[in-house]
Amino acid sequence: MLNCAIIGGGPAGLAAGLYATRGGIENVTLFEKGLPGGQITQSSEIENYPGFFDHTKSGMDFMDSWQEQCFHFGLKHQMDEVVNIEKEGENFKINILGKEPQLAKSVIVCTGSTPKKANIKGENEFFGRGVSTCATCDGFFYKNKEVAILGGGDTALEEAYYLSNICSKVYIIHRRDTFRAAPSTIDRVQKKDNIELILNSQIIEIVGDAMGVNGLIIEDVNKNKQKLNVPGIFVFVGNDVNNSVLKQSDGKFLCDTNEYGQIITNLKMHTSVEGLFVAGDMRIDAPKQVICAASDGATAALEVISYLNERS
Ligand code: FAD
Ligand code: NAP
Repeated sequence: MLNCAIIGGGPAGLAAGLYATRGGIENVTLFEKGLPGGQITQSSEIENYPGFFDHTKSGMDFMDSWQEQCFHFGLKHQMDEVVNIEKEGENFKINILGKEPQLAKSVIVCTGSTPKKANIKGENEFFGRGVSTCATCDGFFYKNKEVAILGGGDTALEEAYYLSNICSKVYIIHRRDTFRAAPSTIDRVQKKDNIELILNSQIIEIVGDAMGVNGLIIEDVNKNKQKLNVPGIFVFVGNDVNNSVLKQSDGKFLCDTNEYGQIITNLKMHTSVEGLFVAGDMRIDAPKQVICAASDGATAALEVISYLNERS
């Protein structure tokens, strides 16, 4: 029986793993379906985590030492996808894809969020053939070429800036004329010569052929259409909460959620179910920042320590 199962190995899960193991809990396993690190490993840069200020380092570089630190203190890592979690008496059953379930006395769920689709015609058809949600991964394919970005948040503008150093030109297509991104990021983007803003506009179709994307049909608020001939489009329109591990066979969630499927927690990361904690991007009111996810993970682990002490 695990003392604690941590589901998801992003900043929240890894911080939880560090605090739980360093806090003296044995038998703590982190289940991560891919490589640990989480969403930030897709980012070309991170400049708002205190103490880490190096524009030459990517999100992947940034997360490297987190895992090493956790494993040093005894966190076990299982590269597995958790299907769901069920309550079994006072314990939890962790159902794992293709493997036997495992039991745990406590669980911290940190499965984060996933980039949303914009539901544009051609988006699915050309995904991976000109449509991308990761500039760090795919930007190099467009070296010295023109590309477009959809969205007006922090991700869209930061990745536009990153791509502007690789590509000959970057178009940012945004449905409004103001941005959600941080003012310093907007300022940086506006000062870049090879970034052009196409505002009050939507992409209505991504077009291409057997070779992949070759253009976008864009429509402005006055219904004027234009074709933009680009071989790549990066879609950055927000994220969905990865809450499926908390879904039960009757379709209900194991614990309370809000209307957007975000998990309701208190300030100590307790959910409505005893012994079940949630941390990071998937909880209500999450600021969706690495530092906040890590803080949540640490808080949840400290609460797990108290919970296990009270149980024994
Ligand atoms: P995630 O990072 O989403 O990690 C969740 C993990 O759970 C993933 O590794 C996933 O594979 C795993 N998982 C999911 N489901 C399962 C399952 N069923 N079984 C096992 N494992 C599972 N924040 C900043 O502070 N500064 C930035 O500069 C910044 N830049 C960003 C750039 C981009 C492109 C993006 C997308 C986000 C950025 N963010 C930034 C936001 C930041 O990355 C997130 O807030 C943070 O990663 C959330 O951490 P998390 O641990 O809650 O979740
Ligand atoms: P976001 O803030 O939700 O922004 C999504 C953007 O996409 C918005 O501009 C939105 O337009 C637009 N959009 C949504 N659906 C669309 C559609 N169907 N068609 C066209 N446009 C659409 O998402 P994000 O930029 O990925 O950021 C997610 C979170 O991570 C945020 O909290 C952000 O602050 C954080 N983050 C932080 C940093 C950082 O601190 N450096 C970096 C990256 C991300 P509207 O504006 O009109 O709604």
